[in-house]
Amino acid sequence: MFSGFAERFGASFAIFRPSQIMEKDVEDQASLIAAADPMTAAIGIFLHILPNDFARYLLGAGGVFLMVNVLFASRLAGRKIRPSSPKPGQMRREFAISMRTTLIFTLSGVASVMAARAGWLDTYYVIAERGWGYFAFTLVMLIVAHDAWFYWTHRLIHHPRLFRRVHRTHHKSHNPSPWTAYSFDMAEAAINAAYLPLILFLMPTSVQAIILFLVHMILRNAIGHCGYELFPSRRDGRPLFDWMTSVTHHDLHHAQAGWNYGLYFTWWDRLMGTEHPLYHEKFAAAVRKPLDGSAVAALSRQAAKSAHKKRGPSRDPAY
Ligand SMILES: [Zn+2]
Ligand SMILES: [Zn+2]
Repeated sequence: MFSGFAERFGASFAIFRPSQIMEKDVEDQASLIAAADPMTAAIGIFLHILPNDFARYLLGAGGVFLMVNVLFASRLAGRKIRPSSPKPGQMRREFAISMRTTLIFTLSGVASVMAARAGWLDTYYVIAERGWGYFAFTLVMLIVAHDAWFYWTHRLIHHPRLFRRVHRTHHKSHNPSPWTAYSFDMAEAAINAAYLPLILFLMPTSVQAIILFLVHMILRNAIGHCGYELFPSRRDGRPLFDWMTSVTHHDLHHAQAGWNYGLYFTWWDRLMGTEHPLYHEKFAAAVRKPLDGSAVAALSRQAAKSAHKKRGPSRDPAY
């Protein structure tokens, strides 16, 4: 039943076939869940998910760090966003804190699997049960809804009453590295960990879609913190995929909190007026391309708006 899946996803990988790993992972999980008593099942699932979650962080953040910040660092020098680089001490701290986050993510994973075991969540293993169209739909939904969840909870934890206790650790990395990806306070880790059980409660989802969602999540997260602009640009210096958040987009959030709360897409920041007014200018500078002037115009519009707010409504109705 998994061979069709393996063929579709694995055919182009002669040596390394992620589909085979997924296939094995899915089968392992299925047998663990089938354990007779709930405690044995929960412990078995915990011991199964923990190394998976740890490996995802280690390979995702570590892989991006090795490729971008070590191996290709000199080649990518022309796309470095800031002149300075994160210090080793900062990266060690990020790694240590990320271990705690990994544990919290694992506990959320165990809760999800146990909920599925009890029949509260509808997760399934055979993609053909609901078809490939539904599989693609759920994968897109997982990513789009996660972006919304992240944007709004992220804005919430920037509230002065919550920031110090919930989000300060992440912003200690003023100049982030790929290891910053999971550097969260416990409460922030719990907010992020809550997303998957919640969405799975609302939407029947295949285990394969969940695994792909998690791989995409760690890669976008680690890349967003790598300090080099990896996203392609147009000739005029604007991002080619302007609807996606670039590395500069999230880097600006760390440099100057108060702007750019989005994770994968720029939609929410634009809709809510929270995108940094100099974002396009900073992106153009990161890819060493000339400016088209629109960012400067946006900045003066923003300055006019905040001056208007400070002074209160002007007598001139056109202002
Ligand atoms: Zn933040
Ligand atoms: Zn960040």
